[in-house]
Amino acid sequence: MTQTNCGTSAVVLFSGGQDSTTCLFWAKERYAKVYALCFRYGQKHATEIEAAGKIAKMAGIKFHILDASFISSLSSCNALVNSSIVMDESKPEQGPPNTFVPGRNMFFIGMAAVFAFHHDADVIVTGVSQTDFSGYPDCREPFILSMNETLNEAMDRQFRIETPLMYLDKAQTWALADSLGVFDLVRTETVTCYNGVKGSGCGHCPACLLRNRGLKTYLKQRDVKTE
Ligand code: ZN
Repeated sequence: MTQTNCGTSAVVLFSGGQDSTTCLFWAKERYAKVYALCFRYGQKHATEIEAAGKIAKMAGIKFHILDASFISSLSSCNALVNSSIVMDESKPEQGPPNTFVPGRNMFFIGMAAVFAFHHDADVIVTGVSQTDFSGYPDCREPFILSMNETLNEAMDRQFRIETPLMYLDKAQTWALADSLGVFDLVRTETVTCYNGVKGSGCGHCPACLLRNRGLKTYLKQRDVKTE
């Protein structure tokens, strides 16, 4: 799933977080033309979209914002779009955590495919990963493969959904950013934190815990290698 195809254009689902930023630079290295696609879906923190715009500019990649605010009107009872809900700070015993927005990736990838159709792009890149699986069913490979097939049938095109992080853990994602030459950029400019704090984040939400644990592991491995 990682072959180079310089003649192809790619659309990257881009939120300005660690994963999608790594994917943006990964795609930039592989494809002649890259589009960064950001979704406004009622997220509580405007800092995410601001950070995404700034990173796309630094990467020299055209930045597009699509309105997906209908998602929050369909799905107001989760902690990412509703300020009155206190987010689960760990995975509940049953079902996904209340940061799960049902259908979000399905809508995002579907909208990205329509965008790709109109911009003559065949590749759609998303930073989903099932390694650090936090209980989100739409981050797993079976969903991606099924969605790919559905989109091909829906638009009579041969799209290819690329998921470079699918089998990487967070430490390996940091390593990938480093190999792409954007370790410092990802560390300081991205917003992964569910509380909207840029860089190393609030330090206690599930996204920060995962990101910071991965960073610590990666830095330890890197130090061992360079000793
Ligand atoms: Zn946080």
